[in-house]
Amino acid sequence: MRGSGRVAPLASLVVLTVACARGPSPAAPTPSARADTARPATAPAEARYGLRPVPVPPAFEQAVRKGTRTRTGEPGARYWQQRVNYAIDAELDPKTARLSGEERITYVNNSPDTLSGVVLHLYQNLFKAGAPRVEPTPVTGGMTLERVSVNGKPARESARPAPLTYRIDTTVMGLSFDRPLPPGDTARLEIAWHFTVPPAGAPRMGHVGRELFEIAQWYPQVAVYDDVNDWDTHPYLSRGEFYLEYGDFDVSLTLPEGYIVGATGTLQNPDEVLSDNVRRRLLAAASADTVVHVVRQGDFGAGTATQQVPGGQLTWRFRARNVRDFAWTASSRYLWDATRATLPDADGDGQPEHVLVQAFYRPEARTWREAVRYAKHALTFHAEHWHPYVYPQMTVAEGPEGGMEYPMIVFVSAYTDPKELYTVLNHEIGHEWFPMMVGSNEHDFAWQDEGVNTYIENLATQDFFKDTDEFEDEMAEYLQVAGTDQEVEMMRDADLYGPYISYGVASYFKPGIALRALGTIIGPEQVQRGLREYAKRWFLKHPTPLDFFNTFNQVAGQDLWWFWYPWWYTTQTLDQAIAGVETTPEGAGQRVEVRLEDRGGLPMPVLLRLRLANGQTRDVKVPASVWLPATRHYTETVSVPAAVQKVEIDPMGLLPDVDRENNVWPRR
Ligand SMILES: [Zn+2]
Repeated sequence: MRGSGRVAPLASLVVLTVACARGPSPAAPTPSARADTARPATAPAEARYGLRPVPVPPAFEQAVRKGTRTRTGEPGARYWQQRVNYAIDAELDPKTARLSGEERITYVNNSPDTLSGVVLHLYQNLFKAGAPRVEPTPVTGGMTLERVSVNGKPARESARPAPLTYRIDTTVMGLSFDRPLPPGDTARLEIAWHFTVPPAGAPRMGHVGRELFEIAQWYPQVAVYDDVNDWDTHPYLSRGEFYLEYGDFDVSLTLPEGYIVGATGTLQNPDEVLSDNVRRRLLAAASADTVVHVVRQGDFGAGTATQQVPGGQLTWRFRARNVRDFAWTASSRYLWDATRATLPDADGDGQPEHVLVQAFYRPEARTWREAVRYAKHALTFHAEHWHPYVYPQMTVAEGPEGGMEYPMIVFVSAYTDPKELYTVLNHEIGHEWFPMMVGSNEHDFAWQDEGVNTYIENLATQDFFKDTDEFEDEMAEYLQVAGTDQEVEMMRDADLYGPYISYGVASYFKPGIALRALGTIIGPEQVQRGLREYAKRWFLKHPTPLDFFNTFNQVAGQDLWWFWYPWWYTTQTLDQAIAGVETTPEGAGQRVEVRLEDRGGLPMPVLLRLRLANGQTRDVKVPASVWLPATRHYTETVSVPAAVQKVEIDPMGLLPDVDRENNVWPRR
């Protein structure tokens, strides 16, 4: 799906063997045998448009031919992925909000292609005057590059691509190497830069005076070069998120003493930056199952919260392995709570993992006193359900950003309603799985992280609060726009959804609802198994939507094309109806014929509940296969031991039926 959105003209940068080798568009694949569609229908086949196989992009076909992808949803035997390691030294001046940094990037070319350069993202240029964007943002001037070098040789800005030059098109930069980088070789880049941190209200980051800084999208970052679509040159337009390579980070952050810093990774030098008291409490928290208050209100300041040093500047050093990004936060007024979570084995030694769970928040954020407990529950739930959590710590940090995820750290604001705080913390922590450990492309396929995450978030929230239906509000939001011109299909670039409601429904609510609805076809346990298998196969890799669909098809043991296509690629809606009910006496009971009609475009099982005069109920599931390939009428016959009083479709509200009036007999 590359090429939607505004694409920077950087293709000339790259020596590609694939660029001219894309095959012609293949014929639509033949869906696998649908053995369960033989059930007889009571009416002849009727028109049903919009039911077709999931399209296979030519670039994916090509990847299958090359052996990097498969049709079963597993990575191919020849799957490869680039690796990018960063060593960054940065300094933040809270007085001026100026951040300056220097980075040394090690770029490992694991691809079979020789590369003449790399593409980088300069996300801060979103805040440049005149930068294209889909939502309003503050203007700061963007990012200034002070120095760029490749393999020790300086590179200069130039409009014409040539060795050791770079070109910047707002947030996308093309950098040409001094010499082509063959497969298996490594390039070393050095970049120095500075920018002014935008104020609070900027997307995903910002600062509140000198008091608090949320720092993200802050360093020149190498774009993904993958086996399906080569360079990701998608510009940062504010709404659409990220697609990132994995690597190791070694980051040193220099700030005035008295600031507490939380970040991706593990703090390497606690004795150099933390006061003795704070360090002792942090150590205690690492082996405590109760919450330890590491920094208390009376500790604020240099000498009490942090060390006090000549010159007044402290350097905090963090390291992180196998992450796709690095973000951090700093405040002079952060309280710091921490505890230990005991999680399923992640490193294969058969022992559980002890993970440090930490919350940083200002004293006035009163609901945050429970944040560590909330975070620990969500982290534990997701680690037990989807994939082990492979990182050594998890930080939740309070600040102006409403909710944003980065590896090992999330930014969440001071929601006053405890349930809302739990829900947002849980949502952002869910992102540690999708897309932090399962590295999909967020801007091209927002549903693949936001939608999957909505589903897992709801399950964790239902586990924490018990007896709630977290899908109910999302169902209502979706139904408000379902099938109207406010709705767009899920398979769309995040920057091209139009109104925010369209984006919210298509990226979050509808895919979340769809995954629950899939449970009515294959069973909720199989949906969870599918997610586990998908996470296992694509752990620290780059799955495309087809890898997701194909993995589920394999887990379900059937090609669910008739489910994926109408839900993901169209805005068709669901409308099942009871057209009539006929009863005939049969022994002491009745033979009940329920005439069903499928008036919508989503073929789904019919979940029937019959209420009988003797107080009993009878649940019958009519499989979706009765509607396939193109039938709209079906009669279900049920023998019951007493007279039927009421028949209802989907009384539990599992499916987003646009007209529930016609779901009940007798009509209300
Ligand atoms: Zn999210």
